[in-house]
Amino acid sequence: MSTVTTLASTPIGDVVTADGMVYVLTACCGASGKGGATSVVCRKCYATVGEVHARGWELHSERFVGTDELAALLRPSCKQYADAIAERAFARAVELNG
Ligand SMILES: [Zn+2]
Repeated sequence: MSTVTTLASTPIGDVVTADGMVYVLTACCGASGKGGATSVVCRKCYATVGEVHARGWELHSERFVGTDELAALLRPSCKQYADAIAERAFARAVELNG
């Protein structure tokens, strides 16, 4: 069983970590998103949601570039707090995932 821990609550949904990954749950249902035929949908209610909800960041990947990407995705709704939220969320995630 994986434990999902909330790192930050944002207008686009909660930023969470589980199993060495960081991702953003949907604001409507607190569920993950999945890619549909033409768009990303909420796994629970199938509403169309932002592309951010189909994304996930592996903390221990060599390709890990999470902080900047997450900040960019948060910027439209979180403005000047986007970088701080992203940095804090990833720092906490790294701490929790060892
Ligand atoms: Zn939903």
